[in-house]
Amino acid sequence: MFVVMAVGASEAEILGVKSQILAEGMTPFDHVANEHTVIAVVGEMGGRRSVLRERLAALPGVEDVTPINRPFKLTSREFHPENTVIHVLDAVIGDGSLTVMAGPCSVESREQLFETADAVKAAGATILRGGAFKPRTSPYSFQGLGVQALRYLAEARERTGLPVITEVMEPSQVDVVAEYADILQIGTRNMQNYSLLRDVGRVARPVMLKRGYGATVEEWLMAAEYIVSSGNPNVILCERGIRTFETYTRNTLDLAAVPLAHHLTHLPVIVDPSHATGKRWLVKPLAMGAVAVGADGVMVEVHPRPDEALSDAEQQLTLDQFRDMMDALVPVHEHVRSLHGDPMLSAAALGIGGNGGLARH
Ligand code: PEP
Ligand code: MN
Repeated sequence: MFVVMAVGASEAEILGVKSQILAEGMTPFDHVANEHTVIAVVGEMGGRRSVLRERLAALPGVEDVTPINRPFKLTSREFHPENTVIHVLDAVIGDGSLTVMAGPCSVESREQLFETADAVKAAGATILRGGAFKPRTSPYSFQGLGVQALRYLAEARERTGLPVITEVMEPSQVDVVAEYADILQIGTRNMQNYSLLRDVGRVARPVMLKRGYGATVEEWLMAAEYIVSSGNPNVILCERGIRTFETYTRNTLDLAAVPLAHHLTHLPVIVDPSHATGKRWLVKPLAMGAVAVGADGVMVEVHPRPDEALSDAEQQLTLDQFRDMMDALVPVHEHVRSLHGDPMLSAAALGIGGNGGLARH
């Protein structure tokens, strides 16, 4: 449930509500929306819901106590009507600008990474990607260069100024990946690895959460809820395709998930057309489609010589193809950014926060 404080409620009144929530064994999370402090009550309430509601409603400074109908709370638009905007070095994600994460599937060598990094930066990428720890279907396939790749990524950041994103596959890797990388990526196979989600919820780095290839949008948002409720509000969602009966493409890109996620949550949404399709010639049209439906950006795999790549050879763009994609993507983004509706109207309809935040599109 949400406790909506009256406009002008004092610090003491807000603290009083939070202490009561803690005393009841729940966790309070507060957020100021449209001049009201709203406190989300998070935890397992069991049969105490109505008693708790009455107790909180009777406290000084409380205007209303409203149930949260959705299973996700802190990630919901109702709790946090305005868009989450994430700043990493010079990159800003979720403010209406076009985020482009680009780089090789796997970091294979310093030279391969630097050549790619220089080219994608020159073509307008805002974030450099590169796999260090690789989740491979076969245990006999290239597993990534590990910590050595993290060092190359850090060097590439120094060289280009681009923040770097890389996947963390297990809890024991979280500290070392957070030491070198600017954004931690949770891969599709780990979307419901709850101990990993909790661990990345405790580090001071934004996390990009890829949608599980068999996960519903609600399960994806519940996974994001694990990270946010563990203390890390800077979560980026990434739609990367789900498994269907179709076999021409590696996965099926669910573009409806983009406006849907924007409606349901305040978190930025990135689309990965590379893993979604598995085919390099499909990356450009789907990247354009993603931006047209309002995605905050794309993640694309790029390799100087894709045919020699140690992983995902068929879907990585050449440097020329990446430049060509950017030439198409930037005008699409310019054109659509003013055409999208206001995702906050849905929150207003639910009575919390109104339409007070800044519209993004
Ligand atoms: C990746 O981005 O490197 C990756 C392995 O993607 P996914 O988890 O979506 O398969
Ligand atoms: Mn890949």
